[in-house]
Amino acid sequence: MKVLAVASEIYPLVKTGGLADVVGALPAALAGEGVDVRTMLPGYPAVMKAVGRKKPAVRIEDLFGGKVSIVAATVEELDLLILDAPHLYRRDGGPYADAAGSDHADNWRRFAALARAAAMVAENGVGGWRPDLVHAHDWQAALTPAYLRHGPGAPSVMTIHNLAFQGRFDAAVFSELGLPDEAMHVDGVEYYGGVGFLKAGLHYANAITTVSPTYAQEIRTPDFGMGLDGLVNRRAADLTGIVNGIDIDVWNPATDPHLAATYSAASLKARSRNRAAVEARLAIEPSEGPLLCVVSRLTWQKGMDLLADRIDELVGLGARLAVLGSGDTALEGALLAAASRHRGRVGVVIGYDEKLSHLMQGGCDAILIPSRFEPCGLTQLYGLRYGCVPVVARTGGLADTVIDANEAAISAGVATGFQHEPGSADALIRALERVMRAWRSPHVWSAMQKQGMRADVSWARSARAYAELFRTIAEKGRP
Ligand code: ADP
Repeated sequence: MKVLAVASEIYPLVKTGGLADVVGALPAALAGEGVDVRTMLPGYPAVMKAVGRKKPAVRIEDLFGGKVSIVAATVEELDLLILDAPHLYRRDGGPYADAAGSDHADNWRRFAALARAAAMVAENGVGGWRPDLVHAHDWQAALTPAYLRHGPGAPSVMTIHNLAFQGRFDAAVFSELGLPDEAMHVDGVEYYGGVGFLKAGLHYANAITTVSPTYAQEIRTPDFGMGLDGLVNRRAADLTGIVNGIDIDVWNPATDPHLAATYSAASLKARSRNRAAVEARLAIEPSEGPLLCVVSRLTWQKGMDLLADRIDELVGLGARLAVLGSGDTALEGALLAAASRHRGRVGVVIGYDEKLSHLMQGGCDAILIPSRFEPCGLTQLYGLRYGCVPVVARTGGLADTVIDANEAAISAGVATGFQHEPGSADALIRALERVMRAWRSPHVWSAMQKQGMRADVSWARSARAYAELFRTIAEKGRP
């Protein structure tokens, strides 16, 4: 079974969030299920640098106003098909925005080109390799099913990693997409008078997945559907939730090179050296209480405003807080202000630091994820694997992957973390009070850590679910 994955990020080459981790980890997991995945990716400068000089496998004279080529390369054990399109991707900044943080005005063209090129690969293959199915990730890849349906007809699966990011553009861009006029229709790419990339993917794909069963239910409601719940409901029979796994080799506390001390469930005491390293790095004084952490985009979705508002109470309970993140300027400011108010008790690093994120999971006692919505979430899975107890809002994948430490779960020995009602700062504080109570019973705390470390957070089960879905769709969807 051959699958062409299409995505705008892949770990370890380009990452702004969980999407990259998933796109980077799925190929190896699916290989174990007999699925050969190649991933089509934009040729951003960092990607082209990693690939080095290579002869293109395909040349296209004109794709959205420039000469482009497709380069086949294997980097970090990932089989990639890179769309080398200098007029679209050779720019400073991140994958979506310029160095000043503003989205590129031609993002519609940059990602329509990715989708178009993917459809060409589905039709003609590359070096004799032609996919049986195309797997499109998020809005940046979501026009691919549209091009396939109005072109070679290969079957496709659309995965939603976050319905909040939809790729909505002005109707005027439609005429340049190269789709037939009839596609500018509610039964097509048209979305509230404009063009919706994710909307198009949800309409045209043969099947839709999202990254947890709970989120698959939530997006059928107006509160979580973000305007797409009607369409999601119409396609409910083709929608499944498959929870993300993590790369358990990259995230392994027994071998992690970013830790001050490696450890396993049998040597949890060694975590104290990592905690000391986090404290030193974030200027937090050693203490008897738990060291809580946040590793996150600092946004409203992640509930960071709820946390920022109540840091005084968190400190009052006897906890310490270490924050690594970046995002909304106002939230960054609020957290930095809390750090200067509570010098030695709250430490904040604004920025993106992969290594520090490992050290924090390996040294902090609990990780706070008070998201208002969370399609899957990965940091709670890293937390489970590292004995960094997740304290999460009961929503989406957080609800599906953490077992709340209520009295019954504690006495049965199955608890792995704490859940609280989403969107409520009071509920977060009540959860933190429960955290403090559990912390004061070291055997309860370490039992929870060990139970979390036993949880299966690998890709094994989910890779099987994807492989089964791919086979069913490829069978049914053959043109
Ligand atoms: P999302 O994709 O919505 O941001 P996820 O929990 O699915 O949330 O994935 C976030 C990923 O990004 C995780 O791998 C997390 O460790 C990482 N991450 C988030 N913020 C930072 C940061 N400031 N530094 C390092 N890693 C970060």
